[in-house]
Amino acid sequence: MTARPEPGRQERLLAALAERDLGALVVTDLANVRYLTGYVGSNAIALVGAGGRRLVTDSRYALSAREQVAAEVVVGRRDLLADVASALPEVAAGGRIGVEAENLTLARHDRLAGILDGLEVEPTRGLVEALRLVKDPEEVAAMREAADVASRALERVLGEGIVGRSERQVAFALHGAMLDGGAEEPSFPIIVAAGPGGARPHAVPGPDPIPPGTLVVIDLGAVVRGYCSDMTRTVATGPLPGRLEEAYRVCLDAQEAALAAARPGMGAAELDAVARERIAAAGYGEAFGHGLGHGVGLRIHERPGVRPESTETLPAGAAITIEPGIYLEGEGGVRIEDLVVLAEGGPDVLTPFPKDLRVVD
Ligand code: ZN
Ligand code: ZN
Repeated sequence: MTARPEPGRQERLLAALAERDLGALVVTDLANVRYLTGYVGSNAIALVGAGGRRLVTDSRYALSAREQVAAEVVVGRRDLLADVASALPEVAAGGRIGVEAENLTLARHDRLAGILDGLEVEPTRGLVEALRLVKDPEEVAAMREAADVASRALERVLGEGIVGRSERQVAFALHGAMLDGGAEEPSFPIIVAAGPGGARPHAVPGPDPIPPGTLVVIDLGAVVRGYCSDMTRTVATGPLPGRLEEAYRVCLDAQEAALAAARPGMGAAELDAVARERIAAAGYGEAFGHGLGHGVGLRIHERPGVRPESTETLPAGAAITIEPGIYLEGEGGVRIEDLVVLAEGGPDVLTPFPKDLRVVD
């Protein structure tokens, strides 16, 4: 069972709605619904307004929603919109009604606007996401546990040896080890990428045996109490050819420099640049194509993005990854990723797994 979310979340949303002169928000994004109400399931809409709060779901979730949710539960018909429309006049108390433009489909928007008939519907962006940006202690505790689960799973599977097993078998073993360790599920499809395959940042695990004498990029995360973790480690399966060992050293140096520099109040682009400049100075600038990191929480990718083009400032309490990579076509790749929470004295690193280059059989 999940704990009910602290009531301050709905209060903070109401304040944000008042600032925009909105009477209510129709919350359709399920991560936002869960964040605000505690609802866990696949079909619900939360209504938060000056005149009340409702969680509209269907009969499959009637029992669990009443246990989980910090709002009055309305059990409606499957598409929910007719029940949303009947509750809204009271919830919005005569005010304008915001919808989540980044989530509500055009078809559902048109249907809602049609049955609301007369009430004004206004697109909004990122209102709940802005609240989710700063994690509270319960959220950090869940993510720390999720990071521990993934780390222990990786330790166990590396200890069993990976050379000669396929990338798919290793990914499957990691999946099982995370479930054994208490994960609800993996937080994204696990990446295991050996040899030249490691040069593709989002490689899909393949059927061929992992060879000796190369780098293997392993990217995994667990979900605990709805919250995600995200870590990457790159291991060697023996002495490394060509530039791979140097690439590992440069990547680790850049990762640690960014960790040491990360502070609240910094621009996300500024933090990205700390790692990017180190990698470029070592001659691998072209080989680091993606951003330095991303926010993590109820979703594996959320605000803030940490990329060269980011315009956000990083607040204290934001949970982000720091994950530089160097990808050498035809040779292999390296990526090293920690999950951290930003704080004044330096980041709280949630990922406990060591980062020195490990040689695995
Ligand atoms: Zn990752
Ligand atoms: Zn990541």
